[in-house]
Amino acid sequence: MSTPSSFGTHHEQVVFCHDEASGLRAIIALYSTALGPGLGGTRFFPYASETDALADVLNLSQGMAYKNALAGLDLGGGKAVIIGDPHTDKSEALLRAYGRFVQTLNGRYFTACDVGTYSADMDVIARECDYVTGRTVDHGGAGDSSVLTAFGVYQGMRAAAQFTWGGTSLAGKRVGIAGVGKVGRHLTEHLVEEDARVVVTDIDTEAVARLRDRFPSLEVAGSTEELIAADLDVYAPCALGGALNEVSVEALTAKVVAGAANNQLAHDGIGKLVADRGIVYAPDYCVNSGGVIQVADELDPSGFSFDRAKARATGIFDTTLAVLERSAAEGITTAEAADRQAEQRIREIGRLSQIHLG
Ligand code: NAD
Repeated sequence: MSTPSSFGTHHEQVVFCHDEASGLRAIIALYSTALGPGLGGTRFFPYASETDALADVLNLSQGMAYKNALAGLDLGGGKAVIIGDPHTDKSEALLRAYGRFVQTLNGRYFTACDVGTYSADMDVIARECDYVTGRTVDHGGAGDSSVLTAFGVYQGMRAAAQFTWGGTSLAGKRVGIAGVGKVGRHLTEHLVEEDARVVVTDIDTEAVARLRDRFPSLEVAGSTEELIAADLDVYAPCALGGALNEVSVEALTAKVVAGAANNQLAHDGIGKLVADRGIVYAPDYCVNSGGVIQVADELDPSGFSFDRAKARATGIFDTTLAVLERSAAEGITTAEAADRQAEQRIREIGRLSQIHLG
């Protein structure tokens, strides 16, 4: 995925939204609607400048186009950012003003939760807008998307195990999880259930302690650096982006990397470095699409079904395996293979709308 220009020349539409009274300053970006309306979350973040916010939303919306395409969804890529501190600037008026701007796009963009926004916020936005997912279960929504995100990462990890060791089982494998927030916690449950040997780390020591109370067999590493250097079979970055850089890749003992964090490669060149070290990297947006699969299910005319969404997220196993096999067959990195697979689907399925329906 090439880095978009800061002016978004590859994007279909970028909308700046401003409501002075509520303090709303937001940007909505649509990278592509070739496969359907753009779906992606709203990030509420205290960006240092509008330029930073624009760069982020352009990047994130492109990422969603690729993620949704690879996940087999009939959805394009969009994303929004609200500039401000969610702890102090979020209000009913601001969220509802934002909802009215999303409504003006008439269904070209569907929003969802992201950093700084929660299901309860989506319920408020939905009071002004028909194009909202990630609402609370009480409001007919899919609720906490980290449940199927973790399930999907687990499926991707099993596929990477199949590719690397010739079997899907993670029993007995030593898996290191960096970040035991919403996703990392659920991922731990899947792995412990399969008798993997799990090592965790988090800067939030209480999060680690709570998890250890539930699973006394967990090992704990003092830091991400310590975790990476430990004797691991699998490394699962589940905290922030940029987990794979020159230093961490050099120190890594794991043969497989599969985790939930977005934008794990610090820059494009890292994919090659990972491959040269014989490490199998299951691309981030390939394995972490369970969450978007979960919220996208809300758009089904029959309403949200957890079982249907889970069945679809099970497909992340096949998708990941296909990406890893493509990278081997074509002699490209796994990140490039994921991009090619996503671009192929956008091209092949996206062009179908050119066939006029009488
Ligand atoms: P979260 O905020 O609930 O958890 C992140 C955890 O990482 C926190 O416990 C935090 O203390 C920890 N952390 C932060 N910096 C750290 C560091 N330097 N070292 C160790 N731990 C650190 O977030 P989440 O919802 O669990 O998401 C985790 C990652 O997965 C994020 O990158 C997110 O963008 C991505 N993701 C999440 C979803 C979802 O459905 N929640 C979907 C797709 C991708």
